[in-house]
Amino acid sequence: MTVSSLLALPVQSVCERPQRIHRPGMRRKLWLTDRHCRYCGRPMAKRRSRLDHVWPVSRGGVDRECNLALVCAQCDIAKGNKTPTELMLWSLRVLLTAAVARVRGMNGGAA
Ligand SMILES: [Zn+2]
Repeated sequence: MTVSSLLALPVQSVCERPQRIHRPGMRRKLWLTDRHCRYCGRPMAKRRSRLDHVWPVSRGGVDRECNLALVCAQCDIAKGNKTPTELMLWSLRVLLTAAVARVRGMNGGAA
């Protein structure tokens, strides 16, 4: 996941208009619009894509088109029930941990 992709996610406030969702049709519509994972940007096959509620329904998100993103299975699992803010903080922690490990590796294990 990239920080820029996370910043481009819809915010909850834009989901005010009711829209009925036809899930297979929605998945196809989103896939035809952009065949890349909304979170990590990697290209994905339609059969491997998943619809994700950007703002989890269990935490107040709406089941509307504006709150849906087509994502890869790996990102869907990693995101879980996180809100966009929690996802961004989690992603930054993963990036920082990887950077610290890389620096430690360059220093022969010394921090
Ligand atoms: Zn992904």
